[in-house]
Amino acid sequence: MQFNIITIFPEIFASYFNESILGRAQKNKIISIKIHDLRQWTRDKHRTVDDTPYGGGAGMVMKIEPLYEALQVLKRKTKNEKRKTILLSAKGKKWNQQLAKKYSKFDEIILICGRYEGVDERIKKFVDEEISIGDYVLTGGEIPAMAIVDSITRLLPGALGNAASAKDESHSVPGILEYPQYTRPEVFIAKGKKYQVPKILLSGNHKEIAKWREKKKKIIK
Ligand code: SAM
Repeated sequence: MQFNIITIFPEIFASYFNESILGRAQKNKIISIKIHDLRQWTRDKHRTVDDTPYGGGAGMVMKIEPLYEALQVLKRKTKNEKRKTILLSAKGKKWNQQLAKKYSKFDEIILICGRYEGVDERIKKFVDEEISIGDYVLTGGEIPAMAIVDSITRLLPGALGNAASAKDESHSVPGILEYPQYTRPEVFIAKGKKYQVPKILLSGNHKEIAKWREKKKKIIK
C-alpha cells in the first residue's frame, strides 16, 4: 500500500511514522509513505499556496492550482488503478473503522492536508472523498492524515505482530468495544485501596476466560 501525503509542513510526520508498527510496516515493505511538499507545485517566486477569500472574511484559503498540479503529477507517477484521493476536512464524512477496512483494500491513497481556513472548494471536483476524523477543528490536516494512515496500516496483513489483535479490536464489528485488559501486578494498591485483577483471568481456564471476555464486550449501538 502506497500513501502519498500532500502538505505544506512535510517535517511534521517523520517522528510518528518512523516508530513502532508504522516504522516496521515500512521496513517490511507492507506500506510506503511519501510526503510531498505542496510548495514544489507553485509557480511564483514566493511559492504561494494561499490567498485571501473571495467575499472577504477572516484568514486565508489554500489555492487550487498547486493542489491540482500535485494530484496530476502523483497520479501520473504511479498509475495505480486501485487508488483513492482524500481531502482532509472538518466538513467531511466521518472516518471510522469500517471506512479504514474499505480503504485498506486499495493500492494507493493520496491525502491532501488543508491549512488556514481550508481549501478552495473547487478541489472537491478532483478528489474521491472528503474525510473528517471527528466533530472538532484542528489546525491542519496532518494529524488526520496520520490517523488515517495508522488506522489503515493496522489492518494490512503482516502489519501487526499478532494478526488476531486487529480482528478482536474495538469497532472491528461496528458498535462493539473490546473486553477489558489487565497485566501485572495482580493487586495494585493506591492510597490504601486495592485494585484486583478479575479472578477468572488468573484461572488458566481458557474456555471460561473466553466466555467472560465475550460477556464484558461493550455494545454502544
Ligand atoms: N475553516 C474550516 C472549517 O470551519 O471547517 C477549518 C479549517 S482547519 C483550521 C484547516 C485544515 O485542517 C482543514 O482544511 C483540514 O484539512 C484540517 N482539519 C481540521 N479539522 C479537521 C477534522 N476534524 N478532520 C479532518 N481534517 C481537519
